[in-house]
Amino acid sequence: YLFNIYRLNMSVNVPVLGASFQLARTDVPTQTPWKAPIMWEGMFDGTLYDKAHLEANSSVALTVFAIGRYLEAYLKSFIISAEKHFMIGIPVTYYIFTDIPEDIPDFVLGPERTMKVLYVPRHARWQDISMMRMKTLSKIIDLEISYTYPYIFCLDVDSIFENRFGTEALGESVAVLHSHYYTVKQDEFTYDRNPKSKAYMKTGDYYYHAALFGGTWQNVKVLVDFCYNGIMEDKKNNVEALWHDESHLNKYYWLHKPTKLLSPEYCWDVISFINRTEIKVARMTWAKKRYDVLRA
Ligand code: UDP
Ligand code: MN
Repeated sequence: YLFNIYRLNMSVNVPVLGASFQLARTDVPTQTPWKAPIMWEGMFDGTLYDKAHLEANSSVALTVFAIGRYLEAYLKSFIISAEKHFMIGIPVTYYIFTDIPEDIPDFVLGPERTMKVLYVPRHARWQDISMMRMKTLSKIIDLEISYTYPYIFCLDVDSIFENRFGTEALGESVAVLHSHYYTVKQDEFTYDRNPKSKAYMKTGDYYYHAALFGGTWQNVKVLVDFCYNGIMEDKKNNVEALWHDESHLNKYYWLHKPTKLLSPEYCWDVISFINRTEIKVARMTWAKKRYDVLRA
């Protein structure tokens, strides 16, 4: 790191595209009680965001884990679709974490788009594979991302990009509304309800989906450390939060309000729902469970 001794602190220079840029959507809530925007199709002009982020030299690290059979099942369609739709127009680096780096296929990437493959060991339980992502993310932010990329997005690999997932999604601290819970009442949210867990919460704002979170590296670092510390504390106390890392993530966003929410368009369960009139465009969708590959 001879040349990159200064950590990036540039995202604050990106102009906040405020009220004058927000167009109308009357059928869905477009703002949280703490005045963070909830991004829905029809509310924004993507070209304005692209222009602002290009001028600010924004760039993004996209992290994804492809461990065990998830690599064969999902990685190809994830990357190929991201090349068509994810943050087109600004530099993107994929950070792929896997236990089988030799199985990563060759990808043809667009200009200013690169890929890094990093080895991680495989945990025996799927719950630990999912939860231990937080520790790996904390490390890679410290070692690399904080020197190179102002923004980071962390995604599940069983996802497919289908439409623009652009710079309008960038922000200081970004969370996505869970497809299954944005229409239901608080008391149906599946927060952790066990007072023995660090993820325990009585009430909250929304139910967020852990398949997608992001923001500046500074904020994501605080988030992943919070979740990892909660997870390890729970292990010491012999408890596990109801929905693992997602429960801790929901607790984090309750205590530290996100500055931008993404509508369920950004992580849409296209398999369970058809014809929801408020969903004008599915930007990223849940991939089908590939039991043929996962259980082969
Ligand atoms: N994952 C993986 N291998 C596994 C289990 C999980 O690579 O054996 C990673 C992968 O990125 C996956 C994420 O952890 O998308 C979360 O797990 P999963 O998608 O199965 O959880 P769900 O979305 O079903 O809650
Ligand atoms: Mn998933």
